[in-house]
Amino acid sequence: MRIYVDFDDVLCETARELSRLVLELYGCRVPYEAIHAFNLREAFGLDEARYLHLMHIAHGAEQLLALEPTPGAVAAVAGWMGEGYTVEIVTGRPYATHEASALWLRRHGLEGVPLVHVDKYNREPPAAEGQARALTRGEFAERRYDLAVEDAPMALEQLAAMPPCRVVIFDRPWNRGVPLLTQHFTRCRDWPAVEEVAADCRRLAAGSSSRQWQ
Ligand SMILES: [Mg+2]
Repeated sequence: MRIYVDFDDVLCETARELSRLVLELYGCRVPYEAIHAFNLREAFGLDEARYLHLMHIAHGAEQLLALEPTPGAVAAVAGWMGEGYTVEIVTGRPYATHEASALWLRRHGLEGVPLVHVDKYNREPPAAEGQARALTRGEFAERRYDLAVEDAPMALEQLAAMPPCRVVIFDRPWNRGVPLLTQHFTRCRDWPAVEEVAADCRRLAAGSSSRQWQ
């Protein structure tokens, strides 16, 4: 089974930290539950200069390494790896954060889980020729997964347009307006619920492979 797991606000608690950071930097109080827009300019009411400064700080190694894992996420991913599933962490973070992001995974016991950068939000700066970089949305579009776990509305739309795959909308205040975009979509409030969906996928896959051999 091939599984896509988003990083921010699926594997770790990024928005809670951004809420704290915006208060510290700008004195702007927007608690996590009040973050109703994925666009942070809108969510925190920031002008472009403040938004860019926030992003610069938020993508620093120290900030990234301090992010708390989402309860149950690390154990679930480690468990899937142990069962022989192919798990990829598919992140929209800029490629420049690769080292710090991979170090976070190592520190939390997920060493060796592939970390794939995709320019999910069309904001990646152009890379020099031959330099490692994030995949474009077009390059990513043909990938196949059996299950994807994602919170970002734009990325969920892309998953709906990709080869059919079970998609979990990881419930967050900013995605509550996103409908179940295809019959393969479901919404989970926490990681135990995501693990149940994965178990269901495995049962379906086992059923279809045993039918092939009958
Ligand atoms: Mg995310």
